[in-house]
Amino acid sequence: MPQIIIATKHQKGHLIAPLLAPLGYEVDETDAFDTDSLGTFSGEIARTCTPEQAAYIKAKQACQNSDAEFGLGSEGSFTSGPYFGLITHNTEILCLYQRSTNTAIYAQASGAFAPHGLTIDEHTTSETVAQTCSQFKNQHWILSLPNALEKGLNLTQLQARLNHHKPLTGQITPDLRAMYSPQRQAMIVNATKDLIRRLNAKCPECGTANFVIKKALPGLLCAQCTLPTKQIKTYISHCEHCQFSLSEPSKHTEGDPTYCQLCNP
Ligand SMILES: [Zn+2]
Ligand SMILES: [Zn+2]
Repeated sequence: MPQIIIATKHQKGHLIAPLLAPLGYEVDETDAFDTDSLGTFSGEIARTCTPEQAAYIKAKQACQNSDAEFGLGSEGSFTSGPYFGLITHNTEILCLYQRSTNTAIYAQASGAFAPHGLTIDEHTTSETVAQTCSQFKNQHWILSLPNALEKGLNLTQLQARLNHHKPLTGQITPDLRAMYSPQRQAMIVNATKDLIRRLNAKCPECGTANFVIKKALPGLLCAQCTLPTKQIKTYISHCEHCQFSLSEPSKHTEGDPTYCQLCNP
């Protein structure tokens, strides 16, 4: 059974292993490599590489620190937007590195991330904290005070620490580490499903995995004015191993005038 080693300090293995087992992979965790050295969410260590690069480094390191054929790296990122910065957006990237071929497959999932905390002031009580934080079941929290930083707190622990410190100022924010955030765990599961889709998509010429749509070309002709629109006309699947490409037309034969630059500018 091919072995995949995942480098994580945050217990991601048990999320991913059951999904990859039916494909014949055994997933084991290693903490031999300090994944936090590539950056932490709470900002003690700044991230200097892209999430893709971080996932690749973790995957390759996991492989090199073992004799496994595959290494898996996982990297999450959080940005504000795209809706006027009000909603936090979470992207989870997985990189599966294969030792014998020195190749990598990237998978990803992204979506809105609901958990948010609150600013502490003189009106903050146990009840107001519970009102905000209990909306996000099993999410853990970071308490940032002028003279203290406490992480990985569940709601009960958070309330106990607030009773202890009785702060008049400070911040409560979601702890974004995977084992402390059920919503992030769900996104990692979605990224794993994307990885499975890619592993199952074999090139018809050489049998290599990740034969999926890599390019979408616009140009569907408008149903009303018959000019080319920005709507997708052709999808191209491509194999990085043998360079075989397959073009498939969109299931739509005509462009919707609603999205036509000319008919609906
Ligand atoms: Zn048109
Ligand atoms: Zn191929």
